[in-house]
Amino acid sequence: MNKKGIVLLGATGSIGENSLRVIRANSDRLKLVGIASGSRAEPLAAIAREFGVRHVALFDEKSCTDAQNCGLFGTEVNLSSGIDGLNRLATLPEADVAVVAVVGTMGLHPTLAAIEAGKEIALASKEVLVLAGKFVMAAARAKGVRVLPVDSEHNAVFQCLNGAPEHEVARIILTASGGPFLNLSWEKMAAITPEQALQHPNWSMGAKITVDSSTMANKGLELIEARWLFGMEPGQIKVVVHPQSIVHSMVEYVDGSILAQLSPPSMTFAIQHVLLFPERKPGVEPTLTFEDTMNLEFRPPDLTRFPCLRLARESMEAAGVAPAVFNAANEVAVEAFLGKRISYPGISDLIDQTLQNIENLEPANLEEVLDIDRSARRVTNDLIKKHEF
Ligand code: NAD
Ligand code: MG
Repeated sequence: MNKKGIVLLGATGSIGENSLRVIRANSDRLKLVGIASGSRAEPLAAIAREFGVRHVALFDEKSCTDAQNCGLFGTEVNLSSGIDGLNRLATLPEADVAVVAVVGTMGLHPTLAAIEAGKEIALASKEVLVLAGKFVMAAARAKGVRVLPVDSEHNAVFQCLNGAPEHEVARIILTASGGPFLNLSWEKMAAITPEQALQHPNWSMGAKITVDSSTMANKGLELIEARWLFGMEPGQIKVVVHPQSIVHSMVEYVDGSILAQLSPPSMTFAIQHVLLFPERKPGVEPTLTFEDTMNLEFRPPDLTRFPCLRLARESMEAAGVAPAVFNAANEVAVEAFLGKRISYPGISDLIDQTLQNIENLEPANLEEVLDIDRSARRVTNDLIKKHEF
């Protein structure tokens, strides 16, 4: 059997690490052919050595030059940097699948380049679809390539849909852990520090998505991601809080049956499903055994204490560039919060005010979306400079 060639963008991150576990355990089916990361050269070099990878991209130019100068990567390694480096990796002839797992919207251009080159996309970077889902999905349809969801909720939906015809599906129900502040009062939320927001009860993930999970902006981004991945109307996507993160999401069929996907809260299950799709093989870690009592709890989300989720839903319903504005403002605000320049409630306030400052239009093309993305970031940064959040 031919091995699938895998390119891993974001190889040193949390999704990257879990992808490597899956690739290591399935070396009879999968071959890592290219890896990329932001700026940390050493862990990338270690991965290149272990998997014998010949194509490497380090986005940060200086880190790339330093690594080259000190001979960190062997002479057999083809090293490049910048967005061109990422695009080159995404389109490597020996790659069949591009795993897009870089932070934020950095993955947009490599995703489009990979689609153009006919590669299957294993998408972790939800922000790519929130920013430009309409154009990315249209490009994938035009090329006849699949965009397979790595995000655990969307992977669960994909598994529960199992190719069902659209008219049989009533709704999809995304589960949300609710994060570390699920039961905290609004008054206490004002004092939340970055250190507290970076402690997720169930999942170990990168900093940005961990903060997004605590504000539930992550679930908001996932609403919009689901809309594009599954071609759903906004009213067909529901969010339910499920603190145990065992049921990863559900699909409700028109006859009232609801199907769910369950597994422990680890990304290896979703990653393996996507990388081996449509084949199934034993997983890399134990699944649920039901030997002990396990309570699964479900409750509606509180949109008053989690305004980011409300704003995301409103943006999705408003359509046009609103989701892109939501995403850009959130990215800038989270960075400012992590840098201790704004308070925790400042994140949702900034998103709200940025949305109010930018006229919502239907973008005609990708360039217009990217322009709005830049303007939204500027507006959020200006707001941070001028006011106290
Ligand atoms: P992370 O911070 O752990 O890792 C990010 C990776 O991206 C690192 O390898 C980093 O070097 C790389 N990177 C950063 N900037 C880059 C750039 N300019 N060019 C190339 N590479 C760059 O993040 P993560 O938790 O692995 O999340 C990655 C993506 O996956 C995010 O979009 C996140 O929303 C999504 N996601 C993550 C999880 C999870 O469990 N961690 C679950 C679902 C979705
Ligand atoms: Mg998720």
